[in-house]
Order: sequence, then structure tokens, then C-alpha cells
Amino acid sequence: MARTHVVWFKRDLRVSDHAPLAAAARAARAEGGRVLALYVLEPALWAQADMSHRHYRFLNDALTDLRARLREIGGSLVVRIGEAVAAFDALHAEIGPFALHAHEETGNRWTFDRDEAVRAWCRRTGTPFGEHRQFGIFRGSALDRNRWAKRWDAMMAAPTETLPDAIPWARAASERMPAAAALGLAPDGMETMQEAGREAAETILHSFLHERGRDYRTDMSSPVTGEWGCSRLSVHTVFGALSMREIHQATVLRQAELEDDPSDEAKAWRASLRSFVGRLHWHCHFMQKLEAEPDIETRPMARAYEGLRGETSDPVRLAAFERGETGYPFVDACMAYLRATGWINFRMRAMLMSFASYHLWLRWQDSGDVLARLFTDYEPGIHWPQAQMQSGVTGINAVRIYSPVKQGHDQDPTGDFTRRWVPALRGLEGKAVHEPWNAGRAVNYPPPIVEHTAAVREAKSRIWAIRGTNAAKAEAQAVFEKHGSRRGPRRPLRRKAANA
Ligand SMILES: Cc1cc2nc3c(=O)[nH]c(=O)nc-3n(C[C@H](O)[C@H](O)[C@H](O)COP(=O)(O)OP(=O)(O)OC[C@H]3O[C@@H](n4cnc5c(N)ncnc54)[C@H](O)[C@@H]3O)c2cc1C
Repeated sequence: MARTHVVWFKRDLRVSDHAPLAAAARAARAEGGRVLALYVLEPALWAQADMSHRHYRFLNDALTDLRARLREIGGSLVVRIGEAVAAFDALHAEIGPFALHAHEETGNRWTFDRDEAVRAWCRRTGTPFGEHRQFGIFRGSALDRNRWAKRWDAMMAAPTETLPDAIPWARAASERMPAAAALGLAPDGMETMQEAGREAAETILHSFLHERGRDYRTDMSSPVTGEWGCSRLSVHTVFGALSMREIHQATVLRQAELEDDPSDEAKAWRASLRSFVGRLHWHCHFMQKLEAEPDIETRPMARAYEGLRGETSDPVRLAAFERGETGYPFVDACMAYLRATGWINFRMRAMLMSFASYHLWLRWQDSGDVLARLFTDYEPGIHWPQAQMQSGVTGINAVRIYSPVKQGHDQDPTGDFTRRWVPALRGLEGKAVHEPWNAGRAVNYPPPIVEHTAAVREAKSRIWAIRGTNAAKAEAQAVFEKHGSRRGPRRPLRRKAANA
């Protein structure tokens, strides 16, 4: 049957290693049909509390790049604005019955519900819907936690998808992307944004594997060295300029190049790249949790901790956290840096989340939304499980509470980063910037919003009041069965020092 094959682009904005596009192109050629490349801009998604102006800005640039890539292979991108089901209905009326192709998406609850609605629409209208796996994340009965790592490795080693030489494209009217303001999105203090698109992503992957990545394992700990020494690939993985398989295969090639080199330089590279490949596993390991249990965007993995931090967060503390006005210089510097750049390294993300959850006793759902909006690379499947982990509500991870002052001394030993991002402290020299309360003179900067030792003592006693119960211990086992990593022996639950 010569019908149209619609490729529904979501967060996979590339044409290479794109299984839905490859499947649609093959089917259209075999049937004498056509391929339509579609992006549906859904205003209701952009009204969600975790979405922000910076995400939309990056999306627009990534779509501009996708349009150019499609043009190179003779196609064009059709944009439709509205709910996905309504957009498909309209398309159905315009072009008649079609087949739909897309990647499986592990997004927030809103996209999960939307995908259910689209599947129901497809069943109702008899529209075939091919959903293709894009990451090493397994859906429904395809998930077997015990074989997960092996299957991840196999998927990453499989050949990348290729396109036929000529694709028979369909054309249809396209709408203009709305202005951010029309979606209720206001600028949010972003000063510099990573460049979007395929070329930028390839350049950054190449520079990480060949120039920047040698000291990855040490550089990653601090925002000062991490900006250069981390791969910075997250935003490209989230919007899909590169597939995880492309990143993994490029890394394996580089590892092979370094294999027989006995130099110290090559040894350092090999260790760093091993560590990087571990992070790529983590990407899918974390996303697998949300895929298996979409509720963990809003409910703790271990239900024993439900309601632990009350029904609402203290608005004054939440605002101080969001504005970076907590009186802890390194925390405030990290928030200012994140606001200006849309990115910060893993350790500081963990510190920010832990500070919000333990020191400020904010609900992780609320501080999690604040951070989600600020991360240009917001990925719900990593973000929410990490938010829970750094808040002590998974039941299976060690309770890790960071000392913001110690982190400042460790990760910004000269104090320059903190001075740069907290202008009020520029008058303090060297490490003195991390403890303005000891400066011996008045500084125009707020006092600490909470006292560290007392806040940590209180938080630990509240967490352990639950964690020590038999019910919580029994539930932890169930959480581990469902979500835990099977690599290595299970670590016992233990108390962690408060000075991490
Ligand atoms: C509270 C919290 C929230 C987070 N939210 C997000 C998020 O919304 N989006 C996001 O991409 N990452 C998130 N992370 C994980 C991590 O901090 C970022 O992936 C990383 O900082 C991105 O920079 P990079 O690409 O240079 O990382 P690299 O260190 O170069 O890592 C390479 C890739 O591995 C994956 N990765 C690295 N660390 C982790 C991790 N701890 N867990 C899962 N995958 C990982 C990412 O895909 C990353 O791009 C979060 C971490 C914490 C503690």
C-alpha cells in the first residue's frame, strides 16, 4: 500500500543512527510510499513545572539544525503546534491513513501520559505505530534486570542505522515555532549556552576523546576543572544530536587506538575512558528506573519516606535556594554559575540537591523542579532518581550529606570561582571567601540561612527514624530488586559522615 510514513521526532533530533527514520525510509521505498518528517510542538508540555526558557531556546536551535540536515538529504521538517493526538488527527484528515514511526521516549509523566494517548489513538484509527528503542532502556516485559548490562553492551555494539541513498519525501504545510513568551516562558538568566546541533556535538565528542578527556577522573570533581574536563555531551544526548551508540562506538575506537601504547599518557587516557564508559552505562541505568516506574517523578522509590518533608516546602528557603542567596558562598556560587551557563558538574549537582534536602529540608520534588529548569540538559530519567538518591528516599543508597564549606575549600581551593560568581564577596581574599562570617569585618552578604551542624543533626535523626524500622528495611530489599544495579555485591546500608 503506497501510504505516507510519518517520522515523529521528539528528543532525537538527528538523521544519523535514527531507527524510526531508517525504518520509514525502507518501508516507503518498498511500498512506493513517502516519508514525512514531523515535529509536534506541544504547548501543554511547555507549561509543566520542570520546563523552562533555556530548554526551549536549545530546542529551537536543535530544530534549526535538524531542518538543515533533512535538507541535505532532500527532505524538510513539518512543524505542527498543538496536542499530539490533535496534530495526528489533523494530519490524518489531510493526507489519509499513514504509518507512524518514533523512538521510545522515557520522559516526564506528562510525556508518558501523552504517549499512552497516542497509542490509544493509533489503535482507534488503525494506524500502525512502530516505536524503536533509542537507549539501552528496556520496556515492559523486555526488562530483565539480571541481564540488563549484557543487553546494554550488545545494543551499543550493534551497527548504527543507515539510510537508503534516496528517500521519497512527502511535503505538507509547516507552522512557525511560537515565541517563548507565547508559551509562558520567560528568560531565566542564561548568559552562555552550549551550541546545539550535530556539528557542535561531533566537535565536542572529538575534543573530549582526543584533547580534553585525559584527566577526566580528577577534573570531573570541581566545577572549575569540570567545565573543560567533563565530556559536556549531556545536552546532545538529551536532544539527540548524537545517539548513545555513536558516542559509545567512538569511545571504543579511541580505546582501541590507545590499547598497545605503554606510555603514562596513554595509561591516563585509558583509565579516564573506562570511567567515561561507566558513566554512559549509568545514563541508561538511571533512566531505566523511571521507565520501569514513572511514579518516581513525584513519589519516593521507598514509600516509607512519603511525606517525610511535609506537604509543601518552606517558600522562603525555596526562594533563597533558587536565587542562590543561602549565605553559603560555594552553594550560592554554584547556583549563579548554573543559572548563567545551564550546566554544572555531577558532584556539585549532588551537593546542591543534598543541601536543599538535608540542610534546608525542602521537598525534593520542589527543589528538583528548580534544578530541572536550570539544567539545559534536563533528563527526567536521570534527574528524578538522582534527586531521590541525594535526598535519602530511595531506601537503598547511603545517606550522603555534604558540608558546603568543606566542598568550597576542596573544589575551589583558590576561592576564585566563588568570588567570580558571588560579586558581594569579591573583597575577601583567598580561601577567606568560603567563610565570610570569619572575615572579621562587615560584608554585604547574608548570614547562613541555617546552621550547618544543627541542620545536619536534625536531618539525620529524621531520616534514620524511618530507615532503622523493620518496615523500611524490608521495603529497601524490594526497591533493590526493582531498581538496583546488579554489578558488584550489594553494599550494606550504613551511616555516612556528614563531612563529605
Ligand atoms: C541531582 C542530580 C540531577 C541530575 N540531573 C541530570 C539531568 O537532568 N540530565 C543529565 O544528563 N544528567 C543529570 N545528572 C547526572 C550528571 O550530573 C550529568 O549527566 C553530568 O554532569 C553531565 O555533564 P557531562 O555530559 O559533561 O558528564 P560526563 O561526566 O562527561 O558523563 C558523560 C555522560 O554520562 C552520563 N552520566 C554522567 N553522570 C551520570 C550520573 N551520575 N547518572 C546518570 N548518568 C550520568 C550523562 O549522559 C553524561 O552526559 C544529575 C545528577 C544529579 C546529582
